[in-house]
Amino acid sequence: MTDRGRQERLERMDELVSLCARRGFVFPSSEIYGGINGFWDYGPLGVELRNNLKALWWQRVVRERDDVEGLDSSIICHPRTWEASGHVEHFSDPMVDCRACKKRFRADQLDEAGPCSSREGSSEHDFTDPRDFNLMLETRIGASEDSASVAWLRAETCQPIFNDFRRVREVARQKLPFGIAQIGKAFRNEINPRNFIFRSREFEQAEMEFFCHPSERDKWFGHWLAERVRFHRELGLCEDRLRTRPHEEDELAHYAKQAVDVEYQFPFGWQEIEGIHDRGEWDLSRHSQYSGKDLAYTDPDTKERFIPLVIETSVGIDRTCLAVLCDAYTVEELEGGQTRCVLRLHPAVAPIKAAVLPLSKKLAEPARALYEQLRRRWNVFYDDSGNIGRRYRRQDEAGTPFCLTYDFESPDDGRVTVRERDAMSQDRVPVDGLVAWLCERLEPGA
Ligand code: ATP
Repeated sequence: MTDRGRQERLERMDELVSLCARRGFVFPSSEIYGGINGFWDYGPLGVELRNNLKALWWQRVVRERDDVEGLDSSIICHPRTWEASGHVEHFSDPMVDCRACKKRFRADQLDEAGPCSSREGSSEHDFTDPRDFNLMLETRIGASEDSASVAWLRAETCQPIFNDFRRVREVARQKLPFGIAQIGKAFRNEINPRNFIFRSREFEQAEMEFFCHPSERDKWFGHWLAERVRFHRELGLCEDRLRTRPHEEDELAHYAKQAVDVEYQFPFGWQEIEGIHDRGEWDLSRHSQYSGKDLAYTDPDTKERFIPLVIETSVGIDRTCLAVLCDAYTVEELEGGQTRCVLRLHPAVAPIKAAVLPLSKKLAEPARALYEQLRRRWNVFYDDSGNIGRRYRRQDEAGTPFCLTYDFESPDDGRVTVRERDAMSQDRVPVDGLVAWLCERLEPGA
């Protein structure tokens, strides 16, 4: 890409960040205190978008399958969990400091460090040697201040799944192969949180650990990779901006046999949004060893006893939100030299599914009745202020796929004008059939 092309993409990213704050998708946490680096708050539209993404993931990964069970574990686990997983010892990034500008960088991302701002006559940084920086966020539990009270906020949602493997399998009466899934917060003390919500210190993961016999690892790895790619396509992400990238041998964790990243082309480049990993026997064998509980499994038919092998799918909810927002953000030139800013979100994830817009306040009663009927099913918005063009624009920016205009003919012909966000086409649709009409169009993949 040319420098100019890159610059334009980054400018668009800045516009999107400002739209997100202005319209209440995402803004800095603790904004009144100047924000806190690496933490973000999701406002009224953002929380709906996030919830829709999570609900769709849960639907596809848990509810539609006989072989995956759900879990919601605590954020703080027994500290031995993180010793067993290797996080206490190894979960670190190499860090360097610049002696001149005093900024801190990840040693493996120095090409993105930019020039040093504080050295006269030189823009070169003066780096220290790299040293390891552990990313686990530490806390203390209980009243005592000794080392026994130290605990960690979970750095990934999968470790408690391994802790609960035996219990969940037994209560759900599952045989192998089967999986356990959860969505929840994870915390990493990232050296350099950046690129908006792409890399933050508190974020949400949706992870699924699938336990199988070692002889079936390739089959299940292929299955889950295909399922997860299908999911991202279903969100409507542009094909050209989505790709899979197998890990090189030297990128793999020492226990992993193979790993593939699902990557999205953000304005700041191709980056991972999800990882599919073959974690082998590592997790269950380590937790068996550290807890002293035998987590092996006996096949009820063959009586073979073995440590199950794990295929993991791990997606970031925040990164998926960002991918979906970047993909949707469009500024269009209209006739007459005007521009329109529109979020072309897939209707299944759009925060507001439809806006009911009475043409006049005199039509408030029947229009509100329609609004109240629809909001029993969906997040629907009611707006009777301002001219109709301006009301459409407000919904375009929020990504609302359908505006339902209740006009003076509606009480007589029982129809509303449905204005579609992307094509701006208008159609008269009977109020009686609106629920079915919307259902059809709000389906994922529709
Ligand atoms: P990266 O190399 O970008 O730091 P990772 O390989 O460490 O990511 P994993 O540990 O595999 O990431 O986590 C799985 C998913 O969790 C990632 O694909 C990403 O979507 C999300 N994720 C990880 N770290 C962060 C973060 N700091 N902020 C937001 N999302 C994150």
